[in-house]
This record gives sequence, structure tokens and C-alpha cells, in this order.
Amino acid sequence: FAPPTPLPRPEGCVRLPCPGWGLAGGWSEALRDGCPPTPGEVMLTSERYRVRRLPFSRVCDSDVAFFERMMPGRVITNPEELKPFNVDWLKSVRGCSKLMLKPQTTAEVSQILRYCYERNLAVNPQGGNTGLVGGSVPVFDEIILSTVLMNRIISFDKVSGILVCQAGCVLEKLNEYLEEQGFIMPLDLGAKGSCHIGGNVATNAGGLRLLRYGSLRGTVLGLEVVLGDGSALDCLASLRKDNTGYDLKQLFIGSEGTLGVVTAVSILCPQKPKAVNLAFLAVCGEPSLSFFSQKPPRPAGASQAACSYQLWP
Ligand SMILES: Cc1cc2nc3c(=O)[nH]c(=O)nc-3n(C[C@H](O)[C@H](O)[C@H](O)COP(=O)(O)OP(=O)(O)OC[C@H]3O[C@@H](n4cnc5c(N)ncnc54)[C@H](O)[C@@H]3O)c2cc1C
Repeated sequence: FAPPTPLPRPEGCVRLPCPGWGLAGGWSEALRDGCPPTPGEVMLTSERYRVRRLPFSRVCDSDVAFFERMMPGRVITNPEELKPFNVDWLKSVRGCSKLMLKPQTTAEVSQILRYCYERNLAVNPQGGNTGLVGGSVPVFDEIILSTVLMNRIISFDKVSGILVCQAGCVLEKLNEYLEEQGFIMPLDLGAKGSCHIGGNVATNAGGLRLLRYGSLRGTVLGLEVVLGDGSALDCLASLRKDNTGYDLKQLFIGSEGTLGVVTAVSILCPQKPKAVNLAFLAVCGEPSLSFFSQKPPRPAGASQAACSYQLWP
């Protein structure tokens, strides 16, 4: 860890609690100032639930100017452009962010988080925004840190099947890339065309291939993460077995962005199966279902066990 060096506070910015904070009922009025409810729009999370904004600073012009200088053209402040990134996939929660940042490198993520830490600005990491539990969108006016432009494949080793890539790579694109080389991603899910591998890690996504290839807790070999204060944690190992100290990456798998921003992932990818057979089975009652939960079914003569199954009630 490199200890962060304090940044000078920008001109004209003061650390103030939200005007409504601590006053019953005051928080939603404060938010409405910036996010007037429009008919037909998803209700603001802050109105739907009795949640209070913590005393974070509010984004001001000099913050936007700082980010514009740092990453010109990748700072979104247009309310219309921000709309889809403030609402979750299920259209059940809506935040009121006024600023979205699109870093391209770990160094930029580090700079952003260091600045926000110094300025006491809240940040919400966002991948493909397909999460189903509301964690991908702000509750209030948090800055959205999108990994959409962090979509570079860093390396792929055909001998070991280990892929190292940036966190914003779309799952389906990774799978297409691997298929050309005779490999596949160890996970597959309905949101594959939009979700990012960093988001998959942050949600510990399971999906269709889990029974066959195991969970991300086993297939993810290493992570690079930027912590809330901007320091980078390099656990991007590419080893099948690594006993060098604590397995810190496990803390970030399934942490929903609460502990840091995943910026790169090292993941073990299986070889592409020679053939895929799909069966639709009707089961009746619990005894048949317990057959599935005991072990993956393996057809007679098949060289490999069944990949996965999905239960439809
Ligand atoms: C059609 C559909 C099918 C699905 N099927 C499955 C399934 O079969 N199995 C399953 O487990 N889930 C499934 N999901 C939910 C699944 O968790 C998400 O689709 C996916 O893993 C989230 O990835 P994302 O890039 O969209 O992340 P987002 O939705 O953008 O974010 C999800 C969470 O991760 C955090 N986050 C995102 N990126 C980062 C990052 N780089 N660093 C730190 N935190 C980050 C966000 O803050 C948020 O808390 C499905 C969703 C949909 C819409």
C-alpha cells in the first residue's frame, strides 16, 4: 500500500453536511432540489425508504473542473445522459447523481478515489448496471464511477488458461475472445451482454456454469483493487496455488463495491467443451429434486459431467 498524500482542498469547496441531514423529513426535500420527480419515473430511493444521507460533501463546480482537467471528455454532468445510470435494471430504485466519471486506468481510479477521500465525496462504483439488489446505483447524489472504459484484455495464457483483464470487460466479449482460442469463461449468465467482469466479482455472480466450474471464489486467482483512500492493492496473482500470505482478494468477491473498486481480474478459464447437449427434464416432487442437489448428473459414456441445470418452477 502506498499511503495517500493529502490533496489541497479546492477553492470554493467546503465540507458541509447535507442541509437535511439530521432533520426528520429534510433529506428528501434537499434531494428534490436537484432531482424533481417526473411522472412515470422510478421513485427516488430516498423517498421510498427512510434512509438518511450521511454528512458527505456535495459535488461543486471546482470538483467537476478538477475531474475535467484530469480526464477530459470522460466526465458526465448532463442530467439526461445521467438518467439511465441513476436507475437500476429492475427499475426499483433511483438515485440522484449529478456526476459520472469514466476512468480508463487503475491510476485514474486511484486519483479519483484519493480526491474524493480528501473531499469527503461519496462514490458508487458501477459496472454494467445489471445488478438486481440496487447496489449499482446511488442512493443519494454519490458520484458514479463507471468501469465502462476499462475494457482491455491484459493477457491470456493458452497453456494455463489464465486470463488477466481490466474490470470493465463485458462478460460476453471475454467469452467470445476466449472461444476463438478454444477456451470459455467459467461463468455465464443472462446479463452477459452488459455485465462487467468487475461487477461479476463484486456480486460474486453464480450463473449457469457454476456447478461445472465452481464459484468465483475458486476461479478468480487474483484481483487488483483501489481502496477508498486511493491506495492500490495489487493481488493480481496468476497462480493456480498461491500461499503467500492472506487471501485478501476473497474479501472483495461479493463485497458489492463497499470495500474498494476492482480494477483488474485474473481468472482461470476452462477449455471449451467439444459438444454441448441440452435436455429439458420434468421432475415430480422432492425426491427427484434431491437427485440434482447431490451431484451433477453424468450421462453414461459421457467424458465429462453435466455442466449445469436451472430449475423452473
Ligand atoms: C438478466 C439477468 C440475469 C442474471 N443472472 C444472474 C445469475 O444467473 N446469477 C447471478 O449470480 N446473478 C445474476 N444476475 C445478477 C448479477 O449479479 C449481475 O448481472 C452481474 O454480476 C452484475 O454485474 P454488473 O457489471 O452489471 O455490475 P453492476 O450492476 O453495475 O454492479 C453490481 C454491484 O457491484 C458493484 N460493482 C460493480 N463494478 C464494480 C467494480 N469494478 N468494483 C467494485 N464494485 C463494483 C456495484 O457498486 C454494485 O454494488 C443477473 C442479472 C440480470 C439482469
